[in-house]
Amino acid sequence: MSDKYATTDGGAPVPSLEHSLTVGPDGPILLQDHYLLEQMANFNRERIPERQPHAKGGGAFGEFEVTHDVSAFTKAAFLQPGVKTEMVARFSTVAGERGSPDTWRDPRGFSLKFYTSEGNFDMVGNNTPVFFLRDPMKFQNFIRSQKRMQASNLRDHHMQWDFWTLSPESAHQVTWLMSDRGIPKSWRHMNGYSSHTYSWVNADDELFWVKYHFKTDQGIDYLTQEDADRLAGEDADYHQRDLFTAIEDGNFPTWTLHVQVMPFEDAKTYRFNPFDLTKVWPHSDYPLQQVGKMTLNRNVVDYHAQMEQAAFEPNNVVPGTGLSPDKMLLARGFSYADAHRHRLGVNYKQIPVNEPKVEVRAYSKDGAMRIRNATDPVYAPNSMGGPEADPRRASEVHWASDGDMVRTAYALRAEDDDWGQAGTLVREVLDDEARDRLVQNIVGHVSDGVKEPVLSRVFEYWRNVDPDLGKKVEEGVRGA
Ligand code: NDP
Repeated sequence: MSDKYATTDGGAPVPSLEHSLTVGPDGPILLQDHYLLEQMANFNRERIPERQPHAKGGGAFGEFEVTHDVSAFTKAAFLQPGVKTEMVARFSTVAGERGSPDTWRDPRGFSLKFYTSEGNFDMVGNNTPVFFLRDPMKFQNFIRSQKRMQASNLRDHHMQWDFWTLSPESAHQVTWLMSDRGIPKSWRHMNGYSSHTYSWVNADDELFWVKYHFKTDQGIDYLTQEDADRLAGEDADYHQRDLFTAIEDGNFPTWTLHVQVMPFEDAKTYRFNPFDLTKVWPHSDYPLQQVGKMTLNRNVVDYHAQMEQAAFEPNNVVPGTGLSPDKMLLARGFSYADAHRHRLGVNYKQIPVNEPKVEVRAYSKDGAMRIRNATDPVYAPNSMGGPEADPRRASEVHWASDGDMVRTAYALRAEDDDWGQAGTLVREVLDDEARDRLVQNIVGHVSDGVKEPVLSRVFEYWRNVDPDLGKKVEEGVRGA
């Protein structure tokens, strides 16, 4: 027998992996069979709460290398020319549960964590440059409308279109979702966008607004609704398998990071509210500037430890990077960390996949599952030489804001509306075949259970995006 015997969680040799301890061969099981009890207890506790939303996903480790000089815009150490940084990525669907098919029509999460020399930087993005909403007050209700009915526990297109048509700001993202890019061929074949506007600060403390675009080097590719439906039955883990196998085969996927950079003052007068998450900044106004390359080259070895427990949060920002006055982004700063505390416990940043690669000198202490020792002094200010704040970071704060406390929408800019950019996508970006597939996808989706009065609102919604599209959708559904 090998000396690599199985052990209890306490490290002691296990006496049997087949037989419980009993009184005689036919007798009752004994309570002192510690190994049996440990196995049963562990099994009952294997599952942790699944993410709500973005429950189904997977990813890999890799590295990010800066290939172009953007030091004029940011002093972040990991964004300086030539710097390589270890990172981890997680991709996901949004509404489906942990075992749901990868090929359901849904936006895809595109979450990245960079273990930089100044602490962790996370980009918690999607494969779309916009989102359904611009105010976090609506987010919880939005996700409820995309998940399941309370009585039947069924997903329901009527409920989805009810919410969307009562929320016209969703039109740009719903157009995207119903188009080809609504079902990527694989995670390797999609772009990742910060969607939100973030900020960068350079060495002279000048602030710029930025949007991150990770463009796939594998090329954009998609699945038709028909292929996606078939794959949902044949291989629910199609995207997970694709990424894992590609990396296993040494076929490492890469993405090229570009940014759009807006000077601080431009934001005050730009024709669209630059912090509105339902809008892009047209490339003609703010062209893409190349930054570097991300390569995924190492699969996880323990999915639970390294992926299910991976905790991404937009407020992981490092010197030279920051948030913006996007209301959705600011709310996510709370909600992501809160979700992690709920799922993983207050010390979730000590789980290895979430641990920064720099020395942590925080004043946090204790709490469930504390692994790293806290040290004296445990309070600040102190006269015992404890860590002090870095006043240079205080100078990075640049926003000015004033006004009465209100509950209202963003003030409208010259070209702000809910339909314009969705219409541009339909008319100026999609070609005739892609427009036809868009109509078919909408008609198929709506024909699956959407009833009056929502149905009439659906036609109106698409007429607002584009009159011809609205006409074709109505003809398609009425004639179906
Ligand atoms: P551009 O013509 O400069 O850019 C259009 C962009 O659309 C392309 O660069 C590409 O972005 C993306 N695209 C191409 N084909 C598709 C498709 N089938 N489905 C979805 N997106 C596609 O125009 P603008 O910058 O003025 O934007 C026009 C519209 O394009 C916007 O209203 C928006 O809907 C969409 N768009 C804009 C982006 C932006 O950040 N400005 C980003 C993506 C889409 P990519 O290279 O990122 O794939």
